Amino acid sequence: MDYFSYARDELFCEDVRVADIAAAHGTPVYVYSRQTFLDHLDRVRSAFSELNTLVCYSIKSCHNLNILRILEEHGASFDVVSVGELRRALEVDADPSQIVFAGVGKTDEEIGFAIDAGIGWFNVESEQELERVNHIAGKLNRTAGCALRVNPDVDPKTHRYTTTGKKETKFGVDLERARRVFAEFGNRSGVDLRGIHIHIGSPVNTVDPYVRSTQKAVALIELLRGDGHTIDTLNIGGGFGAHYTGDEAPPAKSYADAVAPILHGTGLRLILEPGRSIAANAGILVGRTIFTKAGGDKRFLITDAAMTELLRPALYDAYHFAWPVKPPSGFAPAHRSADLKPAGSVLVDVVGPVCESGDFLAKDRWLPPMERGDLLAVFSAGAYAAVMASRYNSRPLAAEVLVEGDRFRLIRRRETYDDMVRHERV
Ligand SMILES: *Cc1c(COP(=O)(O)O)cnc(C)c1O
Repeated sequence: MDYFSYARDELFCEDVRVADIAAAHGTPVYVYSRQTFLDHLDRVRSAFSELNTLVCYSIKSCHNLNILRILEEHGASFDVVSVGELRRALEVDADPSQIVFAGVGKTDEEIGFAIDAGIGWFNVESEQELERVNHIAGKLNRTAGCALRVNPDVDPKTHRYTTTGKKETKFGVDLERARRVFAEFGNRSGVDLRGIHIHIGSPVNTVDPYVRSTQKAVALIELLRGDGHTIDTLNIGGGFGAHYTGDEAPPAKSYADAVAPILHGTGLRLILEPGRSIAANAGILVGRTIFTKAGGDKRFLITDAAMTELLRPALYDAYHFAWPVKPPSGFAPAHRSADLKPAGSVLVDVVGPVCESGDFLAKDRWLPPMERGDLLAVFSAGAYAAVMASRYNSRPLAAEVLVEGDRFRLIRRRETYDDMVRHERV
């Protein structure tokens, strides 16, 4: 599933000792595996290869330019949700005509920039947005490719903060309204409304919500075609699962096999927007233990990695497997699982130094005994980790390192105090 593994009682990323990276670049540090990114991209591509598919990696999951460049060189296109992300894609020479742009609140400036750049599709989320895209494209003498984001009202059975395809969420327009939207905007000169977009949430660890939402989308497309509209694209978004607690995520092939029969004979081009399924297990966060102390019946492990580097536990109560980089002899885990409790392990909460009770990375975990100075790896931190980092408590943003075989290189240098205050010295 990835290239982070224990050998001789210590953690390696590909062929590099994770401890060597911490020694060279300090902690907290994100460590990414190039080969894992590429394997995951390849798995999605080959699973869906029998369909006419475009894979648009979701930049918001992990946006480092060096990683985008690698994915671009290996055939990925991009899904962006802001002009900042669009500019990252352009900076790595992505083909703009293959870029999709989603988001409920695109500003006029963002719409104009994207039309000017020649992006492939706006994933349009409201009637007002279509109005603006049409208007701005008209002024620029252009026609903007658009897909209407519809809300299939399917429950993906994931965290309420990451549920996006139910009626009460802010995303897309209701299925019933879609026909009216096409009737109103289908013939405007500034927009070429030719696709349907759905993105139901994340992570979705079952294939059934995709089946139901794709069925609803294809039924809608048939209706729209009957009304005389030309629809050539169906974008089913991202949200494919990743292994956080064990092996809970279905393989890409399962999603593909479930969705393919529904698309058969429709002639539709399929767009996918995977982020997490490509990035999550391609990165870890490494912190160093500052102190340990007793607290009630358990111990606290206070590390220099905190909610500022990995917000997901605080924000979603997310589970991330954590284990020492160099466990005591015999404590290397044979596999990563939420159920490990080796003899001699200790019940701990892993917390950071930030002044919030919500500042924790792991709660109630059985970990091998750890001492002040020991390194801890927090796994599955490739997606929605570095991109959500903050400087809260005046903590400079952490370094990012990319491993390629037996070499590693800095792909984002650690911020300095001066970096942090530069924009305040006005
Ligand atoms: C966040 C997002 C994605 C990516 O979701 P993952 O769970 O990372 O695969 C795809 N499409 C849209 C519109 C998104 O907002």
